[in-house]
Amino acid sequence: MTDVIDTDVLIIGAGPVGLAAAIELGLRGVRVLLVERNARVGVAPRAKTSNVRTRTHLRRWGIADALAAEAPFGIDYPNDMVFVTRLAGHELARFSDAFNASPDRSYLYPEHAQWVPQYTLEKIMLAKARSLPCVEVRFDTSFVTAAQDEKGVTASLQSSAGESLSITARYLIGADGARSKVRDLIGAKMEGRYGLSHHYNIIFRAPGLSQAHAHGPAVIYWQIGKDGFSAIGPMDKDDVWAFMPGGTKAGETLTDEQAATLIRERTGLDLPYEILSADAWTASELLADRYADRRIILAGDACHLHPPAGGYGMNMGVGDGVDLGWKIAATLQGWGGPNLVASYETERRPVHRAVIDEAMANYAIYVAPPPAEIEDDTPEGDAIRAKAGAGIAASKGREFNTLGTVLGLCYANSPIIVEEHGARGEHNSEVYRPEARPGCLAPHAWLPDGRSLYDLFGAGFSLVVADDASQSEIDKALADSLDLGIPLAVVRPDGVPVRTLYDAGLTLVRPDQHVAWRGESWTGDLERSTGQA
Ligand SMILES: Cc1cc2nc3c(=O)[nH]c(=O)nc-3n(C[C@H](O)[C@H](O)[C@H](O)COP(=O)(O)OP(=O)(O)OC[C@H]3O[C@@H](n4cnc5c(N)ncnc54)[C@H](O)[C@@H]3O)c2cc1C
Repeated sequence: MTDVIDTDVLIIGAGPVGLAAAIELGLRGVRVLLVERNARVGVAPRAKTSNVRTRTHLRRWGIADALAAEAPFGIDYPNDMVFVTRLAGHELARFSDAFNASPDRSYLYPEHAQWVPQYTLEKIMLAKARSLPCVEVRFDTSFVTAAQDEKGVTASLQSSAGESLSITARYLIGADGARSKVRDLIGAKMEGRYGLSHHYNIIFRAPGLSQAHAHGPAVIYWQIGKDGFSAIGPMDKDDVWAFMPGGTKAGETLTDEQAATLIRERTGLDLPYEILSADAWTASELLADRYADRRIILAGDACHLHPPAGGYGMNMGVGDGVDLGWKIAATLQGWGGPNLVASYETERRPVHRAVIDEAMANYAIYVAPPPAEIEDDTPEGDAIRAKAGAGIAASKGREFNTLGTVLGLCYANSPIIVEEHGARGEHNSEVYRPEARPGCLAPHAWLPDGRSLYDLFGAGFSLVVADDASQSEIDKALADSLDLGIPLAVVRPDGVPVRTLYDAGLTLVRPDQHVAWRGESWTGDLERSTGQA
């Protein structure tokens, strides 16, 4: 007989996106069943950058410090990108503090980025999800199919031991990655270009490699030598590194011996290389034509894919999990209206498009194969290297300076944002200019006692008030929140110049730290911001 389990939200896939959605929902008291076909998280070692936005969510979830403690080389290891002819060769160009990973405090955000393997992030997120009483995680359990009606979803799962399970849930989130079965089920199609290039990600152990070259600590050494392009960098403790040769053909595989030989040739360093794993992946530019069919909703790689140039994919997917999490929770708890969950696609799709375009722009900045003399210790070699280095310095910075994209993309034309008239500030992918305009991320500030302004925001909506804001208008907002059953915290941050920072007396901030509305007189927009209007 098939067991039947009832839950509020069934999440397929315990990658970073499924885990983010589970935590966001679980922290809000929503029952979640998170299922993963593998026996553990973090099977393929992929992303290494947890960006400032992801780590800010981790701070809200109470696990940013736990991730920092897992930094494989220490939290202040330089997040530098170094372009070299080969590890044993010449340096061409260097970018310091890629992705804002320096632990120095910035007024722009409360958490810096961190170089940490995706599997370590997933391990920390899994521990958090499991600590939440209403979240259940089942490994070795695969999604098979689902059907839905106006009340909910009924899904069929199968354990790796062959046991069948039937799940009833109010919503199903398909966070099942690039080859999403949930996407197939709802008939969504990926549109764009598949197979831009084919790659091979080799993880290996090489004791002594860090000390065997002269370029100092960095996270990726981009090797542009006479035998082609490759990227190599330290990934984890115990001398674990990652190597990605360029020019791989579709379906090409290497034996461990061939992989070790290739690393030896490309680095120019003759050390013992122990191959730990090899994982093929394909760069594509794809976006789903739709993200949802009523109660079944896609998130993460299941609905968007792009080359990892800029470190955006996982981080953007974590943002999907957060967005869906608070909206589904509010809907199930009765304070989210009928338009709230639908606003997920309206708001996230333009962000996905903009990030894909940004990643494609980075991917397109192709470093042309250099003349063979680039490695020569001659005046001609010096001149070729100087020219190549100048070209790299002028063109590749955009890929590593990403704050404008990570923090500066605002929700526009959203039904749950009270738009303001007038032109927006010009978007710059590299530079983030905080703006409290509705739709944008609420500007950050540090409090005199060292806490972040974001630490004062509630789990529901927050009303950030300036010193000179009208008390009667605040009272009206509080009365509305009581009438409508919408959680609203009044935030009066001592020592923060709210009027200057937010350019308003009252600013309504959503659970995801985006501004919903701002003004001087309360206009009753809580209903609209929660999809009730
Ligand atoms: C080489 C490389 C480097 C990258 N670097 C970065 C980076 O620095 N920064 C960044 O942000 N992104 C990076 N990315 C992208 C990032 O790895 C992905 O965007 C991210 O893993 C997507 O997360 P996800 O949870 O949507 O999907 P996945 O991580 O693919 O997780 C989906 C999960 O669903 C499970 N699943 C699938 N089907 C089923 C089923 N039927 N039943 C149950 N479970 C199922 C899978 O086993 C898997 O665990 C990189 C990618 C690559 C290839």
